[in-house]
Amino acid sequence: MNAADSHARAASKSRILTGDTPTGRLHLGHWVGSAKRRVQLQHTHDCYFIVANYHAFTTRADKPKEIRGDSLEIVRDLIAMGIDPDLSTIFLQSEVPTIHELTFLFAMLLPFNRVLRNPTLKDEIKVKDLGETYSFGFPLYAVGQCADILSFRPEGVPVGEDQVPHLEMTREVARRFNHMYCGVNEKAEDHEHVQLGGVFPVPRAEVGEVGRLMGVDGKNKMSKSLGNAIFISDPPKEVEKKVMRIFTGRQSATEPGDVKNALFQYVEAFIPDAARVEELKDLYTRGDNIGDGHIKKEVAQAINTLLAPMQKRRAALEGRDDLVMDILRSGCRKANVTAEITLEAARKAAGLHFFARTLAYSADSKI
Ligand code: ATP
Ligand code: MG
Repeated sequence: MNAADSHARAASKSRILTGDTPTGRLHLGHWVGSAKRRVQLQHTHDCYFIVANYHAFTTRADKPKEIRGDSLEIVRDLIAMGIDPDLSTIFLQSEVPTIHELTFLFAMLLPFNRVLRNPTLKDEIKVKDLGETYSFGFPLYAVGQCADILSFRPEGVPVGEDQVPHLEMTREVARRFNHMYCGVNEKAEDHEHVQLGGVFPVPRAEVGEVGRLMGVDGKNKMSKSLGNAIFISDPPKEVEKKVMRIFTGRQSATEPGDVKNALFQYVEAFIPDAARVEELKDLYTRGDNIGDGHIKKEVAQAINTLLAPMQKRRAALEGRDDLVMDILRSGCRKANVTAEITLEAARKAAGLHFFARTLAYSADSKI
């Protein structure tokens, strides 16, 4: 498909943006929280998926090589899960410089204490053990994320539950910008902002079918950085080993169990046969001679069945950094065009537009 075709097609569709931080590989939480929805939406929407590699520096500034490696792994994982680079735009945050200009502008529209009150940041400080020593850039990433999103002016953002506070901040900043610089009435409804002359839509968070998949520790949300994740690329034996670790605290096969535990979250998320799920729940609640080990085996099997075709697709990109770079190169080219158009509109609205400019960036240049 040529560039003109692709832009014409994209213009008629409503837009979606979401993404991932390259702090490791993608896992089952990404699948149920966001990626499964992305795979569906790419057929009906103009989809942008950002690899937020600058944001990975908030907690791993000393590991640039790993961040670079993980950025490519995330592209492999996205393709594995069914993202088609001919339908969707996958790009690197670090190759779209206009995002950072917008971040600076947005940083002035959000009170400092408002950013620090963001519950997702507070939670991350706690579970990632960042203590008092996190960088100035750590809370700044939440503002940067508003710019990641709004640079693409999407209507929807498919995310897990943990991202809802970030989306709330994004919505606030869009409303404030539109009110302050575009004359949109403070009382305007969210859906009216663009038709009333606002540069930015007020985007919706679209939480996936499981908003917060627990990790195999049964304590925290499954997370790349917490050592509790089942990765899309985990071989079957590794999946079995990890599923066996899911903690329930149940002592015997005849003890009535609580189906609100982490194990049953996996049963519901990954066993596709609804009748079997109900049967397992019933046996478990009554303590009808069904052990955790047996259920874990069924869960592991279901996960491995889900992952098998993904891993087959992933294998085609193994050792092929050239193919991954091609996907990113064309994604960055398209993302830059879209984000530059947005920045131009934002600079005009905020009185920052003095001269037309052509960015020096070229997606063809050798990196
Ligand atoms: P990190 O540990 O570095 O924060 P992460 O595992 O939380 O990594 P992100 O890159 O922060 O992954 O999140 C990418 C997307 O996946 C977000 O939309 C997020 O809400 C979603 N997501 C991540 N973990 C889960 C989970 N356990 N359940 C549901 N959705 C999730
Ligand atoms: Mg996260």
